[in-house]
Amino acid sequence: MPSEGQKSLLGMSLQDLARLLEELGQPAYRAQQIFDSIYRQRVPSTDQISTLPSAFRHELIDRGLSIGWPQIARRFTSTDGTVRYLIACADEQTVEAVWMPEGDGGESGDGSNAGAEKNPQPRKWDRATVCISSQLGCAVDCQFCLTALLGVKRNLTAGEIVGQVCAVLRDQHVSPPEDRINLVFMGMGEPFLNYENVMKAVRLLVEGVGVPESRMTLSTAGIVPRIYDFANEPVRPKFAISLNASSEEMRTRLMPINRKWNLASLLRAAREFPLRARERLTFEYVLLDQVNDAPEHARELAELIRGIHAKVNLIALNPGPGIDFQTPAEDRVLAFQRILVKTGIPTFIRRPRGRDIYAACGQLKRTVENASASPVPTSGD
Ligand code: SAH
Repeated sequence: MPSEGQKSLLGMSLQDLARLLEELGQPAYRAQQIFDSIYRQRVPSTDQISTLPSAFRHELIDRGLSIGWPQIARRFTSTDGTVRYLIACADEQTVEAVWMPEGDGGESGDGSNAGAEKNPQPRKWDRATVCISSQLGCAVDCQFCLTALLGVKRNLTAGEIVGQVCAVLRDQHVSPPEDRINLVFMGMGEPFLNYENVMKAVRLLVEGVGVPESRMTLSTAGIVPRIYDFANEPVRPKFAISLNASSEEMRTRLMPINRKWNLASLLRAAREFPLRARERLTFEYVLLDQVNDAPEHARELAELIRGIHAKVNLIALNPGPGIDFQTPAEDRVLAFQRILVKTGIPTFIRRPRGRDIYAACGQLKRTVENASASPVPTSGD
């Protein structure tokens, strides 16, 4: 991130860049050149935007206009291949993003060998998910989530949100859409409490970085008015709602935000949400032992979401210090799943990723105590 007196190009839309270039007396087509160099090619620094004349590159540098790539401050690698990144912001705060490779690549991959040039080692995955944060900390106060213990420090800018994705892509030597990368807005923070910046980041990711909107999922704790705004976005990711309870009373206990926007209003918004062809809404449900994981809760849940074109992702609690709930035994999780499946709801159990490095759902809390942490060499401007 740029130091004082510097202005970051990262986070600017094509229109923002066009305005800037007009101010600088440059032709309008240079906006697209800069846009592509930053988001698509992810060049390390302004002086490497090779489509620009050298004199203009120097002018940009003299004016303190750097790209402003964030640096990776720490990297934690799990035994399951998951990597948790602490990414430095300009104000020395760090934000978390998680890289989750999936599948076994090679022969059983999707056949594309994209990225092989840049990354000559045989690949051990055929697709990967990047989980990114939308805020520093979180204000929502879900009782089972470690991020909640931080409170919220501030919103991330669109540049900081896109910067997380680009930092991970550059570190992993991958490039969408050739490489199959999924993005989930399920890291720290509540994306709908930072709506404008998140949606701007979404557009930059789709139009600039090249991640199709169908490969992105945004998850909310239930900021109901924003669901209606989101439904009207011309560019929008797939949509997930963290339900986590099967009754008003239980949800208020687990997610105090339910006092402000209750389950009934949330489900109404879900029912009215305009899905695209073949799209399903996702309901996430964190299973807490002996709290919300009984067969009767599964039946209640099935009843609640009946008629919505949805699937359910079950997440057995990822434990953490300061969290007063237990992880249910596997047979309880399977029994819960069975009941939902029987009623015709596609229901999946989310495998925890990177629990050993505090990278799993609800565990992002800038935890730095970890033996396998490695400081990362810096690159770019
Ligand atoms: N604020 C957004 C996105 C971040 S949370 C939201 O609430 O949807 C991403 C997912 O992790 C949510 O579904 C949340 O319910 C789940 N989660 C939070 N804490 C968890 C924990 N300790 N174990 C398992 N899942 C958790």
